[in-house]
This record gives sequence, structure tokens and C-alpha cells, in this order.
Amino acid sequence: MAKELRCRDLGIECNQIIRAETEEELIERTVEHVLTVHGFDVVEAGMLEQVEAAIYTIETS
Ligand SMILES: [Zn+2]
Repeated sequence: MAKELRCRDLGIECNQIIRAETEEELIERTVEHVLTVHGFDVVEAGMLEQVEAAIYTIETS
């Protein structure tokens, strides 16, 4: 099982799907992506809650 998040679910016009093995890692990667690619300040924008809400689990074989 892995965790995924669509950048689009954060309200951003972006087709990026971010994947990680754990929720902590996924949040870390998402924050890094949003900061570096979109230039957003995730903390000030209150986006961490949105990130957590957008995370879903996928089946991996
Ligand atoms: Zn993005």
C-alpha cells in the first residue's frame, strides 16, 4: 500500500501525481513540490490541511 495525492486536488492547475510509502513522506514531497514548482507558501496558505485531506491510499502489488 502506498499513499498518493493529486496536485490538482489542492486546487492547483497541475497534472502531477505525488506518491510515497508513508503519509509523512508524501506530505514532505507535496510541500516540496508545491514550494518549488508552484512557489506557494504552504504554511501561510493553510494548505497542510488540504494536503492531508487530499491523500488517498492505493493498492500496490
Ligand atoms: Zn503541482
